[in-house]
Amino acid sequence: MTSELLPPQIHVFVRDWLSSNNILLKSPDGHVLIDTGYVRHAPLTLALLRSQRGLGDEPLAKIVNTHCHSDHIGGNATLQSAYACPIALPEGEAPLVERWDTKALWLDYADQRTDRFAVDEIIGARTTHRWGDLEWQAIAAPGHDMGALVFFNPQHRILISGDALWENGFGLILPRAVDPAAMPATRATLDVIATLDARAVIPGHGEVFVDVAGALARAYARIAAFEADDSRVARHALKVLLTFRLLDQQRMLLADLPAYVERVGFFRDVNAACLHLSPEDLAHLLVRELIRAGAVKMDGGHLLPA
Ligand SMILES: [Zn+2]
Repeated sequence: MTSELLPPQIHVFVRDWLSSNNILLKSPDGHVLIDTGYVRHAPLTLALLRSQRGLGDEPLAKIVNTHCHSDHIGGNATLQSAYACPIALPEGEAPLVERWDTKALWLDYADQRTDRFAVDEIIGARTTHRWGDLEWQAIAAPGHDMGALVFFNPQHRILISGDALWENGFGLILPRAVDPAAMPATRATLDVIATLDARAVIPGHGEVFVDVAGALARAYARIAAFEADDSRVARHALKVLLTFRLLDQQRMLLADLPAYVERVGFFRDVNAACLHLSPEDLAHLLVRELIRAGAVKMDGGHLLPA
């Protein structure tokens, strides 16, 4: 399906929720890869890139990231050492990576990991780039990540949206009580995306989609629900993070969860600002809602991804 929607020099490796999609933009002038997945999957990302569907024996000229969360930058170090290519980051993200701010990058702060890498180039908003023989406009897309960029090709009206817009929603955002800027920025970014009149969206997670109006309508409905209830934003963010942790480590002892939500800063801070629950009550709430949503299941005292 992807190949019919996109020019042939764009290849999308659709991954999962632990690893972001990898978007390969091929050109005789040098191949560019946007986003590199999660660190645990880095060997698979390299293998996909080296496959005949990817680059085969050809070199990679550049790595670009839409934003610097662990599921998008986790292959950077592995791919950079394999291909000796530069890494280009959004201007709002580069300083965080340069000083390796593991709180702002949601690494140890959110109990996530990545291999450290160096910044080689900075991409400003409102700049234009030629990748894969196509022109891409870098557009600021704050919200899920305040330094994120999306990339738009006006000729084919293709949007590389990262986690700013998915077919069904967008990446988790911080509740107003923790970051007052995140929710208004998320809505403003949807407004900007709506003006682009994109024909196809290559999201950070999930398949390429063309019902952009439908995706925007669902995203607007979600942000409206979030704006009406900050505790819903908080619960959503913590459920997403807990599911991510389970996808990474596969199982967690339920009895360990209260100590976990007290130890990991993201859970502790969001709970303290919004939910005001004991660690035991927070653990029970998250598990109950995730089981009801069919996202996790229990197995002999262990929590597993469903
Ligand atoms: Zn992501």
